[in-house]
Amino acid sequence: MTLRRPHDCVRCGKTIDPGEEFGAVDVLDPAGELRVLLCVDCAEALRTFLGGTDNGGADGATETPE
Ligand SMILES: [Zn+2]
Repeated sequence: MTLRRPHDCVRCGKTIDPGEEFGAVDVLDPAGELRVLLCVDCAEALRTFLGGTDNGGADGATETPE
């Protein structure tokens, strides 16, 4: 997944520019599926919150833009 234009982090509002690292989270709401973007800091905070802190951050919510 590559950003074509800047997005705001859904959690802290920081602007994520194309080419920057970010996290993407798929969620469901009553209207259907949503994909929200998180800055790296918030993705890491979410990972910690979910308890996935021990895998060195190799996989999961944080994607590296191509
Ligand atoms: Zn953030």
